[in-house]
Amino acid sequence: MARGMVIVGAGECGGRAALALRDLGYEGPVTLVGDEPHPPYERPPLSKDAMVSDAPEIRAIASDEVLAEKSIRHIHSVQAVAIDREAHKVRLSDGSVLPYDKLLLATGSTPRKLPMPGLGRRCVYLRTFADALAIRAHLRAGRRVAIVGGGFIGLELAAAARKLGAAVTVIEAQPRILMRGVPAEIAEIIHDAHVAEGVDILCCDGIASIADDGNEVRVTLAGGREIVADLAIIGIGAVPVTGLAAEAGLVIDNGIAVDAELRTGDPDIFAAGDCCSFPLAVYGGRRVRLEAWRNAQEQGALAARNMLGAGEAHAAVPWFWSDQYGLSLQIAGLADEGRSIVRRDLGDGAFILFHLAEDGRLVAASGIGPGNAVARDIRLAEMLIAKRAQPAPEALGSQAIKLKSLLAA
Ligand code: FAD
Ligand code: NAP
Repeated sequence: MARGMVIVGAGECGGRAALALRDLGYEGPVTLVGDEPHPPYERPPLSKDAMVSDAPEIRAIASDEVLAEKSIRHIHSVQAVAIDREAHKVRLSDGSVLPYDKLLLATGSTPRKLPMPGLGRRCVYLRTFADALAIRAHLRAGRRVAIVGGGFIGLELAAAARKLGAAVTVIEAQPRILMRGVPAEIAEIIHDAHVAEGVDILCCDGIASIADDGNEVRVTLAGGREIVADLAIIGIGAVPVTGLAAEAGLVIDNGIAVDAELRTGDPDIFAAGDCCSFPLAVYGGRRVRLEAWRNAQEQGALAARNMLGAGEAHAAVPWFWSDQYGLSLQIAGLADEGRSIVRRDLGDGAFILFHLAEDGRLVAASGIGPGNAVARDIRLAEMLIAKRAQPAPEALGSQAIKLKSLLAA
């Protein structure tokens, strides 16, 4: 009898993988193990719509009913604590043991902790629905919020907190916000939008100390300035959750190392989503780890296909978005591969920056604009990147030339 498929991590990637196994017609046992109490749910709303809602709700990827209907066993509030690779078994924190034919590790990432004494209950991180509820309870007019880190979590939460009337200070150690991965021209527009909404952004200043007495937090910057807040939210990046894999002797290389089929060194163990690093074919096999919603979805589905023997290599182009106030930022590809930039204006203040490699290949496109203004062209850019196209810079920059026509060329 089949031991079945076990998925550790009931997040975006694990949830999608479980559903995909059933969609692909797999009829054996599928077990999804998660340490959170909820069925798999979407994280992006936690820093956006859910954060400004009066009654935040979980947006489920698969509700308990759907999981039951598809005979997906969801073991929640329990951790997978060890893998016996020889016996093909996973041990859980409640003492139970799950046998598997194929195992998928979709353990995600977890907030990087600020390595500093003085943090108390008024210093918080955002990753889970429970974290979001705790933060939401503090956000209202009259409250002072200090946000450490001018990355995506920090800025999306700053926008939400302002919408709810709280006073917000963002502290970023680098010379500007969104230093990694977002071009300066776009970061400047986001910076200005925050300032126009009343956010105080402090760059180039690290934190010297934090004192949290349980009622308020005092953040002292290296330059001497002191910020007093009712809540400090720390958003200084995420680290992959690799402990279980490392204990089992799997290779860790900026995440659980997998091949193009998302397989670890053990032929029966796969890893996907935020927790894994993999060779990105579109960039000559460069090993990367992506922390992005669509990647988690795509890799969950790809891992499911390969657990069933498809032998399919990862071929997608990275893509992610961020919404702040009325602005939407979208980035396709890896901008750091670019050597030169061409700008294309789309009207209404929206524009796209195309990043070209030395050989003229389009390697990334970063766009910003109101609402959905950049979505269509970023999608076309993504297709050009996937084709490894070398479009003429003049054509990319000209509004008169449709990107679609470059695809056909
Ligand atoms: P996760 O969603 O983190 O799921 C992993 C799950 O595994 C977690 O529930 C974890 O607790 C569990 N787990 C770990 N170890 C074990 C174990 N040993 N046993 C049992 N369970 C375990 N991306 C975008 O592209 N755009 C956005 O706008 C965007 N917004 C975001 C907003 C927020 C607030 C956050 C936190 C993330 C956002 N992301 C966004 C990123 C995106 O949500 C992630 O890339 C995605 O959730 C990754 O999916 P995953 O399944 O790999 O990991
Ligand atoms: P992030 O985007 O990597 O940003 C972290 C920021 O904090 C960086 O600017 C970083 O600068 C800065 N920083 C690091 N250490 C610091 C310190 N000691 N003091 C002050 N600033 C410091 O990560 P994040 O915003 O924390 O997001 C965490 C996770 O949530 C990621 O997986 C992210 O993908 C996900 N998320 C994504 C979105 C989205 O895509 N729209 C939205 C929300 C959350 P350096 O560059 O110098 O390290």
